[in-house]
Amino acid sequence: MTEQCSFCGHKHLSHKLTRYLHQQGDELLIIDDVPCLECDFCGEQYFEAAVLKAIEAEHLAIINHQKKPTWIKPVAVESFAALSR
Ligand SMILES: [Zn+2]
Repeated sequence: MTEQCSFCGHKHLSHKLTRYLHQQGDELLIIDDVPCLECDFCGEQYFEAAVLKAIEAEHLAIINHQKKPTWIKPVAVESFAALSR
């Protein structure tokens, strides 16, 4: 493999499937099992442009009600100032 981590310079990246959180304005979409290259040292993840474009198009279709997502989950939201410490 010729790739190198542009974040830490480590020379080995592994093919992984990961969870990706896409944000479009105030809308969120979680996509599971997204292919990426992950740095074995620092964990930085790299995605192909085609993968990111596909996710963006899918999210727009969902926002525009052209497509229904597989799951809809309620998400917990907190403001940092409101954290109980
Ligand atoms: Zn790295």
